[in-house]
Amino acid sequence: MITVLRAGLPLLQFPLLNVFPEIVHGVTTRHGGVSTGRWASLNLGWSVGDAPEAVAENRRRVYASLGLDPGRGAAGRQVHGTRVAVVGPDGPAGVSAPGTALPDTDALLTAVPGVGLLVIAGDCVPVLLWDPAQRVVGTVHAGWRGTVAGAVGQAVAAMAAHFGSRPGDVRAGIGPAIGPCCYEVDGPVLAPLRAAFPDDWAGLVQPREGDRALLDLWEANRRALLAAGLAPEHIDVAGLCTRCHRDQVYSERAEGRPAGRFGAVIALREGTGAA
Ligand SMILES: [Zn+2]
Repeated sequence: MITVLRAGLPLLQFPLLNVFPEIVHGVTTRHGGVSTGRWASLNLGWSVGDAPEAVAENRRRVYASLGLDPGRGAAGRQVHGTRVAVVGPDGPAGVSAPGTALPDTDALLTAVPGVGLLVIAGDCVPVLLWDPAQRVVGTVHAGWRGTVAGAVGQAVAAMAAHFGSRPGDVRAGIGPAIGPCCYEVDGPVLAPLRAAFPDDWAGLVQPREGDRALLDLWEANRRALLAAGLAPEHIDVAGLCTRCHRDQVYSERAEGRPAGRFGAVIALREGTGAA
């Protein structure tokens, strides 16, 4: 990823998505916000104990840095599921105030210019989607449960069903998340993942002591996107481990619970909607 400074806020961007002038996107770091203490400073999560007015200001700054109105943005109440919400021209909102996010929603899609979709994470995998043919953007939140359940595949299928997207056109950015260097898990996590990825299991794990292994959630999601029909050259993997880079982003594994949340936002620019 590359780092840019927008309206004084450092943002990470995917080179793969940056070449498209029709969209704006950014992955936030932990810097540039007003939160203090363990949430310092750009925490975007309402439910981790931080002051709501600080989170609201942080979200406002993120949206402003991308030229977006948070009042028109959309966010899901992420539950490690696979429900996909299609956001229309009338919202709903869900970004500016606590308790307003779409219930039980881990993936968002929209074709409405100016509607910024937000996914937040603190070790789980945030994924951004973009179909330049049908002009649709999307976000997905995929921790290990969402990865087992096929969250990214469900989102791509919903792009096809609702907007006529062809998976071969879709671009994806796999954001910062806990990496294969640090994500040690045990049998109860590994067994369902093995069932979900029977053909390429060996490429996703490095066995450790006992029933433990290091798991590569980036690669699991990349393979899930390939299985959904994306081209390899249309997938950009940030490769940034949250636990190794707690100076840059938030990580529950590194900091303990509750840690702050960073986020990823994507939107169609105003004036670039479907004709
Ligand atoms: Zn790491």
